[in-house]
Amino acid sequence: MTRTPLIAGNWKMNKTHLEAQALVEDLNDALTDHDFDAVDVAVLPPFVDIRTVQTVLDAAKSSIGLGAQDISQHESGAYTGEVSAAMLKALNVTFAAIGHSERRQYHGEDEAITNAKVKAALGAGITPILCVGEPLEVRQAGTHVQHTLDQVRGGLEGLSGDQVADTVIAYEPVWAIGTGEVATPEDAQEVCGAIRGLLSDLHGDDVASRVRVLYGGSVKSSNVADIMAKDDIDGALVGGASLKADEFAALAGNA
Ligand code: PEP
Repeated sequence: MTRTPLIAGNWKMNKTHLEAQALVEDLNDALTDHDFDAVDVAVLPPFVDIRTVQTVLDAAKSSIGLGAQDISQHESGAYTGEVSAAMLKALNVTFAAIGHSERRQYHGEDEAITNAKVKAALGAGITPILCVGEPLEVRQAGTHVQHTLDQVRGGLEGLSGDQVADTVIAYEPVWAIGTGEVATPEDAQEVCGAIRGLLSDLHGDDVASRVRVLYGGSVKSSNVADIMAKDDIDGALVGGASLKADEFAALAGNA
């Protein structure tokens, strides 16, 4: 099974809507020669920027995909501050990051919540990017693989094989996010390979071979190729390096 790699840029809480417009226009220009059949590229702006970014991408007939950084587990109604899957779908959002370590750390998201959000996204035809990965103390204790697999198992609980195949998993060791300390390709492959192994145990080889497993944590244009050379790594979830159009385009080009 050949998997089309995915490079997804998580803008986090950066860029006003006007700054977002400028960034996505610059990115679209910088990706003029990019081969989108070979490598998918997506951006995940803050919620308030999504409409602006969608308008730019539509007008340019761009192949850049649009994602959200989060999604509500609820369908609609009295959930102040939440944004539903249907609202995102109506804006042509095709990806939603779920369970990013910053959501887990600052907003108490656990496996029950990530699982509900994964189901909400899939129910609306949005591809979940389920983020998993261990904090430093877990890595130091040597239980990082088990920790990460528990997050995968919990986040995908109750899904059919086809639903799992429609999900992207991003392995993001917390100690590598925003720190400049990238995991070695071997360390990243150890966990990404274990994730695919778990998917195979749960749903069989065919499903496991269809799931895109990304690495995230201080990925740049200069290190993406070495990381993606590993068998079970199908792209990257990128934070800081996605905020500069030229750097992110170069990163996608080197993927
Ligand atoms: C992220 O926020 O998902 C991330 C990987 O950030 P950075 O690339 O800045 O480490």
